[in-house]
Amino acid sequence: MIGSMMNYQLTLTSIMQHGKQINPNKEVVSITSDHDHHRCTLSDIFERSAQVANLLKSHNIEKGDRIATLAWNDFRHMELYYGISCSGAVCHTINPRLHPDQVNFIINDASDKIVFLDVMFIDLVKAVEAELTSVKRFIVLTSDVSVVEHLGEKWSTYEDDISIYSKEHDWPELNENDPCQLCYTSGTTGNPKGVQYSHRSLVLHTMAAIAPDAFSIGKNDCILPVVPMFHVNAWGIPYMAAMAGCKLVLAGSKVADPTVLSRLIQNEGVTLAAGVPTVWNLLAQHLQENDISLTGLKKLVVGGTAMPPHLYRYFQNDQNMAIIHAWGMTEMSPLGTINHIQADEMQAWDDEVLFEQKLKQGMPVYGIELKLVNDDGQEVPWDGKESGNLLVRGPWVVDKYFNRPDVENKNGWFDTGDVSVIDQYGYMKITDRSKDVIKSGGEWISSVDIENAMMSHPDVSLAAVIGIEHHKWDERPLLIIENHRGEALSHEDIVTFLTGKIAKWWMPDAIEYVEHIPMTATGKMHKLKLREKFEQYSF
Ligand code: AMP
Repeated sequence: MIGSMMNYQLTLTSIMQHGKQINPNKEVVSITSDHDHHRCTLSDIFERSAQVANLLKSHNIEKGDRIATLAWNDFRHMELYYGISCSGAVCHTINPRLHPDQVNFIINDASDKIVFLDVMFIDLVKAVEAELTSVKRFIVLTSDVSVVEHLGEKWSTYEDDISIYSKEHDWPELNENDPCQLCYTSGTTGNPKGVQYSHRSLVLHTMAAIAPDAFSIGKNDCILPVVPMFHVNAWGIPYMAAMAGCKLVLAGSKVADPTVLSRLIQNEGVTLAAGVPTVWNLLAQHLQENDISLTGLKKLVVGGTAMPPHLYRYFQNDQNMAIIHAWGMTEMSPLGTINHIQADEMQAWDDEVLFEQKLKQGMPVYGIELKLVNDDGQEVPWDGKESGNLLVRGPWVVDKYFNRPDVENKNGWFDTGDVSVIDQYGYMKITDRSKDVIKSGGEWISSVDIENAMMSHPDVSLAAVIGIEHHKWDERPLLIIENHRGEALSHEDIVTFLTGKIAKWWMPDAIEYVEHIPMTATGKMHKLKLREKFEQYSF
């Protein structure tokens, strides 16, 4: 016997229909390459999502086909989110900051059929177009048809293309386990891996994320996602806005411009903004220099890397904001833990002790289970002292990577690659990372890719790259070279050698020469020892 309730499918279509029916007039404000301040409503967005779905149908896009976007945060990208996913296809958001080789790899790996792109990414796509085996059409997100004039017959423009289609679409009945969004992460070694979200996982994630002890989002909120829409669906905010019925402010490509952000926050009445510490650092400097107080902004969601204490104090004490420090991953849709201080005994703690507690990554939201294990797989107690590898499971945690049957979760738990301690209250604190990557300005740099590029130099026998704490970017790469043959290579020589082999912003900030790079018993470079050796290093 089963329970006697309806088997209602949890799909993004249900969020869209709820938004359209219950919150149709909620405003969406965007900056785009062809609009300074574009204003529309949720209802307008969903009508145009229907036009997108009709356009896809005309291109014979079928259920499960992947459709790529290379785009910043704006209303058109949001139309694509819903139009693609709710028509049964999969919206594949691509990070345009990646090296063209990786963009090429990702599009081919996902077999994307159509690529929707912002005007500023035309050159990036043109550079790899000849190698894209699956793409039938490139659609530039603009009303300016002149931008595609000489680009070839596969190229067209968005406004022109969708304008001929109806604003109604016969949305299909989807199964909640159908795929809907795809996002590749470079947060592990090797080629980027795809995480394919299901309708169910994103609906459950959205419900959990808007709850009071998570992001606490309601109808009277106005949200500014500073996190890009190509990074884990902007942490799910475009779905939260439609489910909760709040105003949305999308800053286009200006997501790292503090002047624009500050202006948008003040003029549009933003109550909650979400982003990585690098952006909050830039904003804090701008506010201090110009003596600005953002009185309307009540909640600052911070994630992606740990919140530096001085920034926490500034926004909490000088700007009077509630800091919502969150931890998560692309593989977790992304929400895992949130730090909310409990009103009971902790409020009586000494200020500094309480502040240390606030800096932790926080407690799991309902739906996420945490487990700490040592290298032998034995469980580590939640005592706030002993650290372990952090494992997670839950309905919005990845089970398998896209196209990668060779990478498997063990015993139903996903290994995050983060090392942490958990205290007796259930607050998790990240203490290290077992994955060999560097997080700079909220985006991943693969140490292994830089090492491999460097070791292709005839004078370099061994090269290691580690992350060093950085005041602006959180972490930047330090290149360590062992036993160079011939003359020591200058920083300039190395930059010249690596140019074109890695993305520009991956370029190591400094180089150190050592006699020996320490090795582990299994013959790998001992990154932990190197990180200890260079702990006090500063650029
Ligand atoms: P991504 O998949 O790019 O969102 O990156 C996820 C990873 O970023 C996590 O596994 C952590 O290593 C790191 N991360 C995310 N949030 C935090 C945080 N609040 N504090 C420290 N590290 C974080």
